[in-house]
Amino acid sequence: MKIYNTLTRKKEEFVPIEEGKVRMYVCGPTVYNLIHIGNARPMIVFDTARRYMEHKGYNVNYVSNFTDVDDKIIKKANEEGVDPSVISERYIEECRKDMSALNVKPATTHPQATNEIDGMIEMIQTLIDKGHAYVGEDGTVYFKTRSFKEYGKLSHKDLDDLRGGNRSLLVSGEDQKQDPLDFVLWKPKKEGEPSWPSPWCDGRPGWHIECSVMSKRYLGDEIDIHAGGEDLIFPHHENEIAQSECANGVPFAKYWMHNAFLNIDNKKMSKSLGNFFTVRDISEKYDLQVLRFFMLSAHYRSPLNFSADLMQAAASGLDRIVTGMDNLKFRAMHAKTADLTPDERAQVDEAEVFGEKFDEAMDDDLNTADAISHVFDFIKWANIHVTEEASAAFATSVYTRIKVLTDILGLIVEKKKEMLDADIEAMIEARQAARKAKDFAKADEIRAQLLEKGIVLEDTREGVKWKRV
Ligand code: AMP
Ligand code: ZN
Repeated sequence: MKIYNTLTRKKEEFVPIEEGKVRMYVCGPTVYNLIHIGNARPMIVFDTARRYMEHKGYNVNYVSNFTDVDDKIIKKANEEGVDPSVISERYIEECRKDMSALNVKPATTHPQATNEIDGMIEMIQTLIDKGHAYVGEDGTVYFKTRSFKEYGKLSHKDLDDLRGGNRSLLVSGEDQKQDPLDFVLWKPKKEGEPSWPSPWCDGRPGWHIECSVMSKRYLGDEIDIHAGGEDLIFPHHENEIAQSECANGVPFAKYWMHNAFLNIDNKKMSKSLGNFFTVRDISEKYDLQVLRFFMLSAHYRSPLNFSADLMQAAASGLDRIVTGMDNLKFRAMHAKTADLTPDERAQVDEAEVFGEKFDEAMDDDLNTADAISHVFDFIKWANIHVTEEASAAFATSVYTRIKVLTDILGLIVEKKKEMLDADIEAMIEARQAARKAKDFAKADEIRAQLLEKGIVLEDTREGVKWKRV
């Protein structure tokens, strides 16, 4: 499999550090709001990368964080007069619901920054001890950027150009920096902000250190793949490399993968332009499988434009696959004969080519756009070859082979059978009973079962409300 590596700017053969295993870290969202459809792009793309690698037989350890300490979270908490953890827990829960509706598999571990403060303090101390960081008068700890000779290797920036060219680095407001290029590892507490004790001052970590620490804790010093949206290349990922490599003394990530941005009607998505959509907004208009399919219909490194027309096209594309699969199921159930004929056996062999082409496309830096076109070809072939005369074994075999491909893309191809309202109400009652009996595991299980069927529960003051997503 070839992967485009931002670090080398080349497509490279993927060779894991440890045979058969992939250690992968994907920067997750800052949880102060419902996730927007731009955030959904890396989730879907890298979930698909993971699924494909699992299909190839790798054991994938997939870690994706929730950034749960941040200015925006604190601001929202202060507006609502609640603790920041109330905000972050609320939106982590909402994010998990959206991920589930997008059929994004839960990560092996979803660490949260605020649970990892000890590790951050430890790494910052190591950086100070090794001469890569220093403490300002007010207790702020800065990373000494020039102490890392390879700084800029990911974003292909030159330190001297940066100094002259990047004003945001110069206009720092952090006047204790020895060099405008230095960045914050730990900052002192301000009024109304959460803080933790540290050897330097009560305060909180900078953003970049959290990913270096969580990646180290759950995956080790050296990992195979580090991924996220392309806006993270600089400074976030560049800073992560500097911190991790200076602290650990070994290369950090072997491959760096970055998805391009999602735009709306060819404009940058922004609240001020009024073209900002959360995943939840979209779920009111479309099945979220359509959004997933739409995201995968482009290569992950190409900018993707979101528009009503393109979503409509995605909806009909997905429908072609779902209908094709439904027909195959129907043929299998209503077949007149059970076993494969020799001719059918030959056709099953002939159809292997679709799977091979699919893999070829995915091996080429995860070209999901081409991979989908091979799924379409397979469906077209199935519509022609799996006729009324087909044996059950033939229809089933073709169905199963296509399903392997749609599972890699994480597309749910079964026609949705809606749950009846009465069944939903009964399950909610069972959940309430479990909660009353303090059997929270059972209550959670029932909630998860409902979620799987596309039913989202909301605990409100007036009782439990539910809706279909
Ligand atoms: P944030 O919560 O802003 O840190 O973003 C979480 C993830 O979503 C990061 O990997 C970002 O790069 C990614 N992201 C944010 N906006 C977009 C967008 N419009 N298109 C694609 N990816 C995005
Ligand atoms: Zn990160």
